[in-house]
Amino acid sequence: MPDTMRFLIRASGARRLIAVMDDTKLAEYYTEETGDGSLAGALVLGRVERVAPAMGAAFVDIGQPQNGFLPLAEMESYTQNSGAKPLATGQELIFQIKKDAHEQKGAYLTRDVALPGQHIIYMPFNRHVGVSKRVSDEAERARLLAAGQELCGAEHGVVMREASLHAKPADLREELAELKARWAEIRQKAEFTRAPAVLYRESVLAALLRDYAQRYRVSITCNDAVNRMPAPPTGLMWEQVNDAELDALWQASRVDVQLQEALARRVSLRNGSTLVIDEREALTTIDVNSASYLGDAQGDMALKLNIAVCDDIARQIRLRNLSGIILIDFIDMHTEEERAQVSERLMAELSRERVKTVVHGFTRLGFLEMTRKRTAATLREQLCVPCEKCHATGYRQERDKKK
Ligand SMILES: [Zn+2]
Repeated sequence: MPDTMRFLIRASGARRLIAVMDDTKLAEYYTEETGDGSLAGALVLGRVERVAPAMGAAFVDIGQPQNGFLPLAEMESYTQNSGAKPLATGQELIFQIKKDAHEQKGAYLTRDVALPGQHIIYMPFNRHVGVSKRVSDEAERARLLAAGQELCGAEHGVVMREASLHAKPADLREELAELKARWAEIRQKAEFTRAPAVLYRESVLAALLRDYAQRYRVSITCNDAVNRMPAPPTGLMWEQVNDAELDALWQASRVDVQLQEALARRVSLRNGSTLVIDEREALTTIDVNSASYLGDAQGDMALKLNIAVCDDIARQIRLRNLSGIILIDFIDMHTEEERAQVSERLMAELSRERVKTVVHGFTRLGFLEMTRKRTAATLREQLCVPCEKCHATGYRQERDKKK
């Protein structure tokens, strides 16, 4: 029987707070409001504002303060595959947002639309058949590849997700038909819409359910009626409670306490060690401090401690929704074999989540280097604003130190 993921959903008006509990730990947290939030994965009707071959990009008005960014290199292969004409200023086209706008950068766009379902990802504009990297067994990969080719002929592309391993061919065909119908609706909506406009976006809850309901038993506790939910949880364990009951559960699950921990720079762990997590613009660093735990112990104590903190590191990365380059400074180890053991443990701990992470191994200076796909705002971006007092540096000038 798979593990249970428990969703606590606190609704008030148009706002929903979603706490994803993995056992007793808060694993993910989202605030969702109708009309804002992340647009990653959304389909938009955009107007091409400028094609800049020298910059290798086109800039597209998608109704945000900054124009969306479309790499022309991707456009070339797309044009070859789909027989579409090259881009021209003023054109109104359907784009998919791959990454949300972030600080000075506009949203990252693609023309190669991908619509994810529970078992497959449907790609109307290409003919590529792929298999999720989560499926590692060669025989199973070959089987899914064949199933995918049979499913879509040479008409369009598809990625077989891990969940497709146990799906019946009829279920896959049905899901493909649903995704095709959704795409047809989106195209039709585009015909009658003026750019810029959002044509389709999936709610955070719907995306969570799509990704987790296949791998875990999902239970939902909510203070809202099922017909007001953005994704009616059909077939899932679902209970509606009143506000007071939800508040009690929220408190008993220590959601707010765990959120506070995840917003702090320093995290104290059970064994006396600490993690110091610094989110910077270019990268995030995580420093493992042995504190009182290690003392001056010898032997494989460093290895033991590093292995022991991997679950906390993975949890903080997931809950903070860190993305991009992450460097982890573990306690120094002496052998390659020990470093490999730590990498492996961290990868295993990261495998429960839905965001793609890649552990690249140790750098020459001994940092464990990993990357995590940016999908939505980080926890800090969701819940905090930069400090005005120190201009978000964390420091203020001391008066008598001024010249
Ligand atoms: Zn400050």
